[in-house]
Parts: sequence; C-alpha cells; structure tokens
Amino acid sequence: MNETASLRARAEIDLAALRANVRVLRARASGAQLMAVVKSDAYGHGALPCARAALEAGATWLGTATPQEALALREAGVGGRVMCWLWTPGGPWREAIEADIDVSVSGMWALREVVAAATAAGRPARVQLKADTGLGRNGCQPADWPELVSAARGAEEAGTLRVTGLWSHFACADEPGHPSIAAQLTAFRDMVAYAEKEGVRPEVRHIANSPATLTLPESHFDLVRTGIAMYGLSPSPALGTPADFGLRPVMTLSASVALVKEVPPGHGISYGHHYTTSAETTLALVPLGYADGIPRHASGRGPVLIDGAVRTVAGRVAMDQFVVDLGGDTPEPGARAVLFGPGDQGEPGAEDWAVAADTIGYEIVTRISGRVPRVHL
Ligand code: PLP
Repeated sequence: MNETASLRARAEIDLAALRANVRVLRARASGAQLMAVVKSDAYGHGALPCARAALEAGATWLGTATPQEALALREAGVGGRVMCWLWTPGGPWREAIEADIDVSVSGMWALREVVAAATAAGRPARVQLKADTGLGRNGCQPADWPELVSAARGAEEAGTLRVTGLWSHFACADEPGHPSIAAQLTAFRDMVAYAEKEGVRPEVRHIANSPATLTLPESHFDLVRTGIAMYGLSPSPALGTPADFGLRPVMTLSASVALVKEVPPGHGISYGHHYTTSAETTLALVPLGYADGIPRHASGRGPVLIDGAVRTVAGRVAMDQFVVDLGGDTPEPGARAVLFGPGDQGEPGAEDWAVAADTIGYEIVTRISGRVPRVHL
C-alpha cells in the first residue's frame, strides 16, 4: 500500500481545480484584480500550496485575517501583494510592515499603533482604510471617517504611512436583491469620494467577496476578494450550485472503512443509542469524528458514499469515529467512505453536509482539523 492509500483519512486538495476556479473568477471580475483569500489555512485547504496555485493562475493579491497568517506566507517565500485585515492591539505590526504586508485600519487605535510601528521600522506602513458601509462589524463608521482620513493623510505627509487601499465588506451579498447591497454600494462610493477629495490616492478600492464577484459586477471596482468560490463552493444555495458558475469543488474528504460487521435487529448504535437497527444488517465504521471537524450536529443526517451508494450517518458522531448502516451490503476490505467532494463518484458535496449540520459550506471545509492530512494533487 502506498503512503497516501494507507492514511486513515485524507483531504485531497485538487490544485488544478483551484487554478481553474481562479481563472473563472478572473473572467467574471470585470477586469479587476483578484485577491485570493487564504485565511484560516485557506479555508482548511492549506494556505501555502493554495496561495502559490492562486498566484500561478493570475491572482495578484493574497488576503488573510491575522498578521501571523500573512507573515507565514512571506516566511515561506510567497510573493505578490499580501493584505491582512484583523487588526488587534499589540500585534506584530512592525514585522508586517517590514515584510511589505498591507495592514487594514478601521479606527484611531489601530492607526496610532501602526504609525508607531512604522516609525520604529523606519519605513512607511502600507495601510488600507476600512469603511463600515453597513456590515456592522469591523470598519470605520461614516461619522468617524473624516477623523480617520485626516489622521491618515497627516501620517502620509509625515512619511509614516501610505494609504494603498480603501475598502469595505458586504453583509448580504449572498441574498440576491437584498436592499442592504445597494445601500452599502452607495455608502462605499461616498466614503471613497470623501477620502479622495481629501487627497487620498488609493491603489485599490474594493468591496466584493465571492457572491458579489459572481453576481454584482457594479461592485467589482479595482479588486475582488474571493474565498469560498475559489475553493469551488457556492457562497449560498440561493445563488446556485458551483457548476452553475463553472466552479469545481477543490476538497475531497474520505476515510478508509475500518470495520464491517453484521449485527442483529434492535441493536443500539453509538453513544446514546439514538439509532437502532430495524433488521439484521451490516455496519461500517468510519474513522472520522468531531475531533477531525465532522460536525456532531450532523449525527443521524450526514451523507456518506460507501460501496457505490450514498448512506447516512447512523447515530451520534463521536470524537474519532462514526457508524454507517449498510443495510446488509458488505464492501471489500479497503473500501473508502467519501464524505464530500466534487461529485465525480456520486459522493455528496460539502453543501450537503452544511444542510445536515445546519451550517454553511464555508464552515464544513474550514473546520476539518489538522489531524486530517491534506494531500495536494
Ligand atoms: N473579504 C473579507 C474581509 C472576508 O472576511 C472574507 C471572508 O469571510 C472574504 C473577503 C471572502 O469571502 P468569500 O469567501 O465569500 O469570498
């Protein structure tokens, strides 16, 4: 058995699919540049190989949440423009500035600390000012924008920073026709116009995430930031399937079936006995559990392809394993259980697990833990 085949479980990452998805997204981006969002280990797909593949396919920017994620890309020798957007006090801002990472700033605390870090580094910080145009999360409120813009312009004139970007983030881009979309676009245009009137000359203005890249050309501006669509998942069933957009899921999660056994009718299965066999049957043991990121909330519901048929998790998902009722079928030794993938073998999609666990496809792939080896193809 080769090394990959002998793995208990694996998440195969199809980098050719990721590259193809980047090309599809670039073609839809109205000529805007593309930022590959590779935060949280590229939504569980492996930050370094995905970042490199995205750059090969034409992405010019990489986006992360934390500065540590951005620095890890640089430490591995990844080029391209890199931006991180989760400012927190006391972060490695000097290191980020020295590594040519663009830092997002949403308020005066962040601006002062980044200016101090730039002064210590002896070089200007690249700062992207983030506007809260209606998401109600990170970003500068419109009422506070003049103060932030004025302080940033002052620091530009003092040589401690350069405003490289003006940007924002949508709340409801995955809900077609939601009134907040138009309202956020108007607020964004106004806040950009104000900053430019005050002398800010950004390289990039951006607000579009995957759903906006796919469906809202008027939101593309100079740059689109795509995460989930690059990994081949649809941002929301309301928008369509991945195939509707020419996207291909990148991750396939599978495990070796570890045990097949016959049991009598009336046999309780897994913790709490929430499932009981109704007839004599066969059970398969799948060696994946919630420690691997399989949602316990999908107990009794998660779909799994085994031996040519899609079956359902029987009873509770435990920490390291779950059981599937095969209804009397007896797969050969070495059979695999495929939880989700692009569907080529008839396996479910990550979206099906999202429904089973009452969550979103984003969470299904991102939560697959480090215990599951990633195999990059
Ligand atoms: N931009 C920001 C600021 C984000 O936090 C994210 C992810 O949540 C994205 C872009 C990418 O979003 P999506 O995965 O929908 O493309």
